[in-house]
Amino acid sequence: MKKRLFTPGPTPVPESVMLRMAEPMIHHRHPEFKEILSRVNQNLKYLFQTEQPVLTLASSGTGGVESTFVSLFSPGDTIISVNGGKFGERWVKMPKTFGLNAVEIKTEWGKAPTSEQIMTALRAHPHAKAVYLVHSETSTGTATDVKALARVIRDNSDALVCVDGITAIGAHEFRFDEWGIDVCVTGSQKGLMIPPGLAFVALSSRAITAMESSKLPKFYFDLRKALKAHAANDTPWTPAISLIIGVDASLMMIRAEGIENIWRRHKRLALALREGLGAIGMKLFSDSPSFAVTPVWLPEGVEWKAFNKTLKGKYGITIAGGQEAFAGKIFRISHLGYYDELDMITVLSAVEMTLHDCGHKVELGKGIGAAQAYFAINP
Ligand SMILES: *Cc1c(COP(=O)(O)O)cnc(C)c1O
Repeated sequence: MKKRLFTPGPTPVPESVMLRMAEPMIHHRHPEFKEILSRVNQNLKYLFQTEQPVLTLASSGTGGVESTFVSLFSPGDTIISVNGGKFGERWVKMPKTFGLNAVEIKTEWGKAPTSEQIMTALRAHPHAKAVYLVHSETSTGTATDVKALARVIRDNSDALVCVDGITAIGAHEFRFDEWGIDVCVTGSQKGLMIPPGLAFVALSSRAITAMESSKLPKFYFDLRKALKAHAANDTPWTPAISLIIGVDASLMMIRAEGIENIWRRHKRLALALREGLGAIGMKLFSDSPSFAVTPVWLPEGVEWKAFNKTLKGKYGITIAGGQEAFAGKIFRISHLGYYDELDMITVLSAVEMTLHDCGHKVELGKGIGAAQAYFAINP
């Protein structure tokens, strides 16, 4: 059986990237590696649309976010964090662990934070050092209007605008410099199309200044060390060499396609998939759906366990289920990274056949027909 992965991290790795990572090991203090890292550093700036440094750390995305808390702040600092799902919740718990005063803005799952919510929190905490936003909340498939909220934060406070861009980078329009973002983190196993193990952290000059007075303890995740090494196309510790070689290959693919084309492709795939799911009577979960991952309600009478077992066991398709209160109620189809039109037709087709196998009444072919029509009308 041919296996197909439709999860929002890990995401499929292109064959050309896998082949590069399989090459014999090289040494990280030698010129051949420096040349690769220097190219990666340049191309990461393109990905984040910034002239600022983007650091590469050997950790998953969570480590990347942790590095920002410990490197930018001091005990007792207030930070505001939006919690609209599993990841936002993590960015409330984590700063508390480090002795920061984390003020939570809680939004209902599937709803994006509003400017008013941000303003209310900033008025109540005028000395907040940062606001953490999740651009694409993967657990709920919900996108936040980071551009608009960054504007609100910059116009009304001195707080740093910090973005979890872990499933947004490479799927949603994102302009670090133009939008006045101070910190953005992403991970390797998402839009960058390589295996898990790398985190990327972009820092504005304001964020770099904040690092100088930060008093939280840190060693491995001290971004000052990473920044210093970065200036010499180096890393403070042994880098994840194979993954950096992999990201070099994937960033070259990204450059060749063009970042704006990539954003457009993700939007188009997401909209076609929504069209197809809607045509077979399925309801979207989120009010502000992400272009990286589409969350849908499981139809009445269809049992998640049986649905998932058939989808995976019979058709080889791996998707993500719902989490917490929505476990067994919603599922999530990812289209983040290495996907095209026919991948959407394939996953829709598998959903139709699986619903049919589960005894749900569905007109076979109706969803894929609607998606095909969407693609035809929106080339
Ligand atoms: C995957 C993900 C993370 C966590 O990244 P890890 O690589 O699992 O540590 C954080 N935030 C969002 C939005 C994610 O999708």
